[in-house]
Amino acid sequence: MTLEVIIGPMFSGKTSELIRLVEREVYAKRKGAIFKPALDRRYSVKEVVSHNGLRYDAHSVVTSSRGIRKISSVVDGDGLDVIGVDEVQFFPTGVVPLLDRLAFSRRVIACGLNLTFKADTFETTMKLAARADRVRYLSAVCVVCGQEASRTQRLIGGEPAPKESPVIAVGGKEMYEPRCRNCYEPPA
Ligand SMILES: [Zn+2]
Repeated sequence: MTLEVIIGPMFSGKTSELIRLVEREVYAKRKGAIFKPALDRRYSVKEVVSHNGLRYDAHSVVTSSRGIRKISSVVDGDGLDVIGVDEVQFFPTGVVPLLDRLAFSRRVIACGLNLTFKADTFETTMKLAARADRVRYLSAVCVVCGQEASRTQRLIGGEPAPKESPVIAVGGKEMYEPRCRNCYEPPA
């Protein structure tokens, strides 16, 4: 089967695309489920919810080796044919060999952020993409100029967040903006 990775900045439609692809498989009578990091509670603990309001039941798992083992045991226990993983960048890189292995006999679809708010690469997303059979690279719309956005700007009080702020800070439109490479302001 296949390993597919959907990559892009925030607000590029990654989760919507993940839900769409998994739902199609479930309509086709295959057993599918979506996993998401337990730290992402922006909208729901038991569901993945896209920024435009699409939702789908999800297994919430911790972002540690224990969470990775949980994914493996649910996949085996439930006999899943299709595995979706939302916000894969929050998992340790140890999730990469698991998903890579599962993809030999199942369809695995993961979505994740390309870059941190400092425009550093998210290692888990990129390692997974390197092993993928198919990568979809999505863009958002730059809030400043309307061009295609590939970066995620983190804002605090309307100003670019300083580079010392933590890499992981879950938030929505009040905290993040998609921006193109020209309008993106690197943190000072
Ligand atoms: Zn722009």
